[in-house]
Amino acid sequence: MGKPGGHGGKKGKKVRVAFRRNRTKPARRNDWTEQAHQADGHEIDAQHSESVVPKGELSRQRTVKADEDKEPPSDLQHGVVLAMRGLYADVDDGDRIWPCTVRRVLRTRLIEQRHPVTVGDRVGFRVDPAEDDRAGEGVIEWVRPRQGELCRRVGRRIHTIVANVDQAIIVSSAGQPDPRPNLIDRYIVASLAGRITPVVCMNKIDLDQAGCAASLLKVYAELGYEALVTSAIEGTGITELRGVLAGKASVVVGQSGVGKSSLLNMVQPGLQLRTGEISEQVNKGRHVTTTASLIRLEIGGFVVDTPGIRSFDLSTVPRSQYELHFAEFVEHVAHCKFPDCSHTHEADCAVKAAVETGRISQDRYESYVRLFEDSSDPIS
Ligand code: GDP
Ligand code: ZN
Repeated sequence: MGKPGGHGGKKGKKVRVAFRRNRTKPARRNDWTEQAHQADGHEIDAQHSESVVPKGELSRQRTVKADEDKEPPSDLQHGVVLAMRGLYADVDDGDRIWPCTVRRVLRTRLIEQRHPVTVGDRVGFRVDPAEDDRAGEGVIEWVRPRQGELCRRVGRRIHTIVANVDQAIIVSSAGQPDPRPNLIDRYIVASLAGRITPVVCMNKIDLDQAGCAASLLKVYAELGYEALVTSAIEGTGITELRGVLAGKASVVVGQSGVGKSSLLNMVQPGLQLRTGEISEQVNKGRHVTTTASLIRLEIGGFVVDTPGIRSFDLSTVPRSQYELHFAEFVEHVAHCKFPDCSHTHEADCAVKAAVETGRISQDRYESYVRLFEDSSDPIS
């Protein structure tokens, strides 16, 4: 899907490109990864573009609307926000981590748009030359338009917990606990809705005596998802898992006990992932924040460290959109009699017809119905 000569690549680090409307590819510094963006066919959502400008250019550029996609000022340093600490963002520029504040005009604009700087944002920042030493502090001047987002519902609002997540590694285990296909489907829908690529990983394959888990995984491979078989105990598939993680920003999700930490420790021994429940801080009763951070991998790329990743759920996805994320349904939905067919109880439903002829598997269909019926459809 990648565009020829497109994303990222070997572009100069600080090339100044003339401002144009509707640009789909901001110049990216290549500190995040080459692979991640070469493989990436997403159009940038121009509405998520944010920018401020250096002092001297303020008056000229202030007339430019915040939601227009434009280049960051050419003389900024670039990095990735690894963690937020109060008003400070820890920005990793590849060499070191800079504590950065957010320039006031940007902060005001971001808050108005309910779009504060968050973990995973790729930012342009400026460090006062006088302070350009180990004790230096930066000021964030620009935030790159976001792509994959890990979101969470808080009341009626949706918060981005981590931005620019490339993929979700959805881990199940062949046994202890047994695989739950419905949970895999749930994570796939949540990932795709957040524009995050799902990767299905079947761990504890050493326990798969009857081959059931392997055949379940095959269903997902046949649907076109990347599928991995691993054993953290025996070391199976770890090289492949490293290959999948390298150079990308990944979130690892799955039931407790499936071996997520064991796998990551095999990928990078000594990785100190936090475990446990989401730590929530209630700030003056107004905001609930979920602490997340990114950990840089030695092989390149990052993993999201979010305790109790239950936040990665479907509560931000209207259930009328679930059908879009069941890949094998898509060709059928247009043929349902009712344009708003939910494929559960309606007559003349092309999805149900496809289940009867075996073109859609009964298990996946039942899984869809379960997700649909479980949903309270909070924001359809
Ligand atoms: P997490 O809750 O998903 O992070 O799971 P853990 O990594 O804590 O693993 C839960 C348990 O499963 C531990 O006792 C691990 O030793 C065990 N485990 C992890 N991976 C494997 C595997 O591939 N095979 C087997 N047999 N056990 C595993
Ligand atoms: Zn239908």
